[in-house]
Amino acid sequence: MEHINVKSLVFEYPGEKELSFADFSLNAGENLLISGNSGSGKTTLLHLMAGLLTPEKGSVCYTGKDISIMDPGELDRFRGEHIGMIFQKHYFINGISVLENLKAARRFAGNKNGHAWLTTLMEQLEITHLTHKKPHQLSEGEQQRFSIARALANEPGWVLADEPTSSIDDRRCEQFVKLINQSLSDKKTSWIIATHDQRLKQYFNNIYPL
Ligand code: ADP
Ligand code: MG
Repeated sequence: MEHINVKSLVFEYPGEKELSFADFSLNAGENLLISGNSGSGKTTLLHLMAGLLTPEKGSVCYTGKDISIMDPGELDRFRGEHIGMIFQKHYFINGISVLENLKAARRFAGNKNGHAWLTTLMEQLEITHLTHKKPHQLSEGEQQRFSIARALANEPGWVLADEPTSSIDDRRCEQFVKLINQSLSDKKTSWIIATHDQRLKQYFNNIYPL
């Protein structure tokens, strides 16, 4: 079975005290909530899991594959195919529309088709009316929903989400939780969510405290 294994992970920003993370593993078909106060290391852990930071010690393995020993090209392809990311700061391709951004995310995964899936996603996240807008024309909350759509565009096995609900109201927060559960059952997407949003805690039984 597909799984993630995080082991003996240690990271140090230059001149800062060392951050170490308790071991954990996660099987496909399970979600995980990484919870902790601001500054506890949630973003750092997600960036280590995405291979955007390299650990001092320890490893992050996806079904036995250690991402720290992949070369940059291999890591890019691996991310494009298997991982969706929702960052605290959003990184979109600004010159092209919302829809073109979603299509680009699918192309990185080698999927040229799948327009129906993108249409469904945009409907579920209530961004259909924004299809032809450019990312910078979206409000903070719209950008966050767009960011969630983009992370799911390539139908990844894993989504790494950093504070995905920080700009989302209560009603849309509940819809988001529904989407999480639906994508787990329909698309076999497992979610790893780092958050200090107390609203999310009630929906998860698998919690990793930092
Ligand atoms: P969280 O996401 O839980 O708020 P972070 O992972 O962002 O926590 O930060 C963990 C710790 O590392 C904090 O003490 C923070 O100040 C520090 N830190 C984060 N990013 C940097 C950086 N680029 N340079 C130096 N220290 C950093
Ligand atoms: Mg953070």
